[in-house]
Amino acid sequence: MFDYLIVGSGIAGAGAAYELADDARVLLLEREDAHGYHTTGRSAALYSEVYGNTVIRGLTRASRPFFEAPPEGFAAHPLLSPRGCLYVGRPDQADALAAMLAAEPAALRPVSREEVLALVPALRPDYVGSGVLEGAAMDADVEAIHQGFLRGAKARGAEIRLGHEVAAITPTAEGYSVRTVSGETFETRVVVNAAGAWADVVAGLAGVRPIGLTPMRRTAMIIDGPPGADVRAWPMVIDADEEFYFKPDAGRLLASPADETPAEPHDAWADEMDVAICIERVQTAADIPVQRIVRSWAGLRSFVADRSPVIGFDAQASGFFWLAGQGGYGVQTAPAAARTAAALARRQGLPADIAAEGVTVEALSPARLR
Ligand SMILES: Cc1cc2nc3c(=O)[nH]c(=O)nc-3n(C[C@H](O)[C@H](O)[C@H](O)COP(=O)(O)OP(=O)(O)OC[C@H]3O[C@@H](n4cnc5c(N)ncnc54)[C@H](O)[C@@H]3O)c2cc1C
Repeated sequence: MFDYLIVGSGIAGAGAAYELADDARVLLLEREDAHGYHTTGRSAALYSEVYGNTVIRGLTRASRPFFEAPPEGFAAHPLLSPRGCLYVGRPDQADALAAMLAAEPAALRPVSREEVLALVPALRPDYVGSGVLEGAAMDADVEAIHQGFLRGAKARGAEIRLGHEVAAITPTAEGYSVRTVSGETFETRVVVNAAGAWADVVAGLAGVRPIGLTPMRRTAMIIDGPPGADVRAWPMVIDADEEFYFKPDAGRLLASPADETPAEPHDAWADEMDVAICIERVQTAADIPVQRIVRSWAGLRSFVADRSPVIGFDAQASGFFWLAGQGGYGVQTAPAAARTAAALARRQGLPADIAAEGVTVEALSPARLR
């Protein structure tokens, strides 16, 4: 009998396993043959304290101490490295930039047109009106964070099994009996649903009502920077209305049209039209001749209606715990989300530092969606 059986080993499930295995018997089941095959392995790897709604921002800020000083042995290299995020607006987008500044005056500073062009010389002088800079935005080492959670969970005694797709979840007197596609059965007191885009599907296996999760496809691609330009020191560039972004990635640029196309949960791929839209938007703003797409992909960012994560026990299904709806922020919120999940799954209150960031149990609870 396990105390917690976690479905899905993306960054959410891995983080929960790491925290819960501290004092409980944990089993983590992943359908794929590799960890991070779905959304976790497809992100833009940004840490930004001004991205997302207030719940996301609170969880992000509460994650920073872990990222900056992870436990001994968690990772061989720093988990965050300086990047900076430059929000760029045309003259007609000045209001959008002003609203951002007004909302986060401590984290953002206005940047003149001249400074924008000095920071990213490829931007077109006749395109840029002005900008806003989040100097403290960071690149996140997603692989190191994810592997750190998985390695740490194992070291604390968690069992982790790849190639184990959960096919049935049946309530028992003490919790749940969980059967995989290959016919193995595991007994657990609590099921933690960290199945990413499939979280409502997994709930359905247990007869639990869905939370109305919508997977949204987002496209990304790697392109070369302008010939002769060293892009490595550029900040990430984001359109003031988030219609595109590009950021340095191992000497090249990772670009996205920032699309949000509702989809069924599936193994997402980049649609040619979204790739073309991305190139068109990037080239309108910047002189970056795109000769070829080095690589393109898409991933599902899954949201509920209010775009906050869903962390907590289901009100109707005893012992069924939700850890879903991380949207486009599951990496930067992962450490605080994992600690929150562990505390609530143990039926304790929110950790004090997370509550101090303005996050509440109610804002995360699945009950708010019913
Ligand atoms: C293009 C893009 C850019 C992004 N940029 C950022 C960013 O800059 N910063 C940021 O913080 N976030 C970003 N995100 C979002 C972030 O990647 C996600 O929020 C996060 O990875 C979600 O993690 P997860 O563990 O919930 O989901 P996943 O990584 O998808 O993990 C869920 C796992 O559950 C497994 N599973 C499903 N059903 C079953 C079953 N029945 N049995 C067993 N296993 C099952 C799946 O196989 C999968 O591995 C981005 C996402 C995309 C697509």
